[in-house]
Amino acid sequence: MKALVAVKRVIDYNVKARVKSDGSGIDLAGVKMSMNPFDEIAVEEAVKLKEAGVVTEVVAVSIGASACQETLRTAMAMGADRGVLVETGAELEPIHVARLLKTLVDKEQPQLIFLGKQAIDDDAGQTGQMLAAMLRLPQATFASKVTVADGKAQVTRELDGGLQTLSLDLPAVVTVDLRLNSPRYVTLPNIMKAKKKPLETLDAATLGVDLAPRTRVLKVSEPKVRAGGVKVADVATLVAKLKNEAKVI
Ligand code: AMP
Repeated sequence: MKALVAVKRVIDYNVKARVKSDGSGIDLAGVKMSMNPFDEIAVEEAVKLKEAGVVTEVVAVSIGASACQETLRTAMAMGADRGVLVETGAELEPIHVARLLKTLVDKEQPQLIFLGKQAIDDDAGQTGQMLAAMLRLPQATFASKVTVADGKAQVTRELDGGLQTLSLDLPAVVTVDLRLNSPRYVTLPNIMKAKKKPLETLDAATLGVDLAPRTRVLKVSEPKVRAGGVKVADVATLVAKLKNEAKVI
């Protein structure tokens, strides 16, 4: 059984994003980039299923600039067998990514398709759902446990205040949540091994996918700076401040 995992190259989660002075987006010049953290969890799950003998091949796919090769090498150092880069310089929206991933799923015919529940740069949380709809495949979002047996995946999903367990016919799309697993660290020997694994590059322009923009970013702004707190002398002053200054009671 083949598993396909979508891995996005995003601004590293430890880096504080700087908004460009004209408000047109985030300044990525000289900024550390890494694999989207939820995608690391997706790779880990696919690799674990391979180690358990359920999955026979793990294919990592990244869409974007040629620098995404680095993200694919990380996925391969974690245990993915090969990587596919769909290269494009286009500004991608989730619908474009879903369309491009669909062409790859049509070609590769995986039984399991793993994505992160969201990319930490656009916070869209749309790609997996769109992909499942385009492929007309069953989907389970926010997975916190995945088991595979008898041609079905059993996926436990995190809901607000509870858990739901679904059974899905395969092939299926699964988007993964934070508590599914703890991704392994990549070791130097595995980084070296990953350099020798196959990495195919496809030009997005040859895949017959409409990449025309559908939305336009009007403005990106920093969150409001929080005002410092004050110490109040007594409860009466606190209530007065809440009433007259904060106007919350
Ligand atoms: P989003 O809908 O943008 O929040 O992204 C959800 C998931 O879709 C990510 O966690 C990735 O698994 C996948 N994804 C989004 N964009 C890309 C991309 N450019 N390349 C590969 N996978 C992507």
